[in-house]
Amino acid sequence: MPERIFNFSAGPAVLPLPVLEQAQRELLALPGVGASVLEISHRGKPFQSILESAKSRLKSLLGVPDHYRILFLQGGARLQFSMVPMNLMPGSQAPPDYVLTGSWGKNAVKEAEKVGPLNIVWDGKDTNYDRLPSPEAWRPTPQAAYVHITSNETIQGVQFSDDPDTGDVPLVCDASSDILHRPLNVSRYGLLYACAQKNAGPAGVTIVIVREDLLARSQASLPGYLSYQLHAENNSLWNTPPSFGVYMVDLVARWLQEDIGGLEKMHAQNREQANSLYEVLDNTNGFYRGHAQPNCRSLMNVTFRLPSEELEQRFLAEAEGQGLSSLKGHRSVGGIRASIYNAMPWEGVNALRGFMQDFATRNA
Ligand SMILES: *Cc1c(COP(=O)(O)O)cnc(C)c1O
Repeated sequence: MPERIFNFSAGPAVLPLPVLEQAQRELLALPGVGASVLEISHRGKPFQSILESAKSRLKSLLGVPDHYRILFLQGGARLQFSMVPMNLMPGSQAPPDYVLTGSWGKNAVKEAEKVGPLNIVWDGKDTNYDRLPSPEAWRPTPQAAYVHITSNETIQGVQFSDDPDTGDVPLVCDASSDILHRPLNVSRYGLLYACAQKNAGPAGVTIVIVREDLLARSQASLPGYLSYQLHAENNSLWNTPPSFGVYMVDLVARWLQEDIGGLEKMHAQNREQANSLYEVLDNTNGFYRGHAQPNCRSLMNVTFRLPSEELEQRFLAEAEGQGLSSLKGHRSVGGIRASIYNAMPWEGVNALRGFMQDFATRNA
């Protein structure tokens, strides 16, 4: 096998090695099936059992209550930016609320505005999206269609560490870059969505967890693919689902259950790994400057600057030379971004930590 780098890519991102190995072993023929998951009907028994397994593992890992449906869709999180308002706005007393904590929230607003009016109830732009609102700083508008948050802003590196209580207003969450990183109180949410390619699988499959009563809002006039109700009625088999992606999500969920030991353990590891990098930011006399305020730092995307862009270039080049890959910050923010999703091994975090300390000593 060619040597694997330490992959700090923001997405598509590192996957657990045992998952890749199993997929490789089974690629030519699924045990007992004699054909690849890529080659079998989505309506046959073998794929049905993969789909049910993926659903039940997610349900068990996240503690999804019985009155929620788990869907596997295509179109990425971007399509959810449109599907959420198209399905959930009609028939509501008041427009939806959006809490803007970074770039992805802004992108969600851009799409929702095409569907109808909305309220931006909090916007972090004045401080360049380096923080979250305090719970007192935003209240959902009574009767709002829903309130939308982004649990982890992948580009800025700010993250909600709990599940906000929005009372009767359905909470909708873009959890694309942190789903499965900790246990959730799913009953706080009306709908959660996540493209898989950051923390849950490969690109091409999007997980939607939706409270059953909200399905009644989907209008019959919607294009079929865009209706949550149609997908729920057909158990994600209204059309051909992204079958390989569903298979991979099942393997990742199994890895979380059996190798990691559940989301409490995953959360503990994520906290320790992130803290070990933030500690370097905080202990190099200002050589590194973290983007996010300390109380809302992301456990998934560690974002920081160096004293100059020239040093940042050198940092990236030297890191690459040591097998520490894809550390460049998003073009809209600059600097460095270390994405350390669930599958990032300790060796990768330790190698980066050592490199950061050494680089600071040599260049401060
Ligand atoms: C990556 C990402 C998206 C975009 O996902 P696509 O699958 O490319 O549509 C949206 N929201 C968040 C928080 C992301 O990290």
